[in-house]
Amino acid sequence: MKLIDYNVDLDGIDCHVHSAFSPDALRAGASTPREIAAAYKRRGIRGFIVTDHLDVGHWHSVDPSKFTEYFDEWNAVRDENPDLTIYIGMEVGFEKETAEKSAELISELPLEYVINSVHYWQSHDGDDMSRGREYAYGKYLEAVSASLDAPYPFSTIGHLGFPERYAPYPADEIAMEYKTFKPIMDDIIKKAVRKRVRFEENTNGGGAMRLPRADFLRAYKKAGGARPVLGSDAHITENIAQYFDAANKFLDKIFK
Ligand SMILES: [Zn+2]
Ligand SMILES: [Zn+2]
Repeated sequence: MKLIDYNVDLDGIDCHVHSAFSPDALRAGASTPREIAAAYKRRGIRGFIVTDHLDVGHWHSVDPSKFTEYFDEWNAVRDENPDLTIYIGMEVGFEKETAEKSAELISELPLEYVINSVHYWQSHDGDDMSRGREYAYGKYLEAVSASLDAPYPFSTIGHLGFPERYAPYPADEIAMEYKTFKPIMDDIIKKAVRKRVRFEENTNGGGAMRLPRADFLRAYKKAGGARPVLGSDAHITENIAQYFDAANKFLDKIFK
């Protein structure tokens, strides 16, 4: 595995997209690698990073028996589209219990980009949310902090603030605010800056939801953090590069 360098220019590139190799995307009506490349070209987008799921033990993960096919097919699509910048990656879901297994599965793969995401963090009863926002979000952020010590390399921290997408709280109580979670968020910031990994601004939360939020990004910038890359997290081609203009305007205010 040789991940692309931290300094590679990813401006204008969609750094998070799923194809029909991800079972959840397939179920949602995802396109094939060839169709996805054609869609980016049609939209006039410079390039993208394919990041299908590896979540050990969960149904939406690419089956490891398909890994060879995954790289063969994406490499062929890259060769057929020299005018697009395409990198081949995966979104690796972090859980303490399966992290070693994930490391084993990806260590020999020719991955160029890894998104380190926390999708599963709730305690065994799976019902942290009912214990209130501070408890549930606190547990999530602890898992993100642990994910930064994952036993495999990664390029980007995926969709920080992810539970906001699903939180059952009233709209005015959904925010994962920096001021409420400062100690653990500062810990995440410190590790991210030290390890030189990026954040992504994930635009799959709709036009208004910010993952991460502005207050977190201001603290991250102050600590020496760089502008996040953009990731649409599209599971169907209609959503590629969704809300990028709004996300760029949002990031311009913080990082320029
Ligand atoms: Zn994800
Ligand atoms: Zn994703």
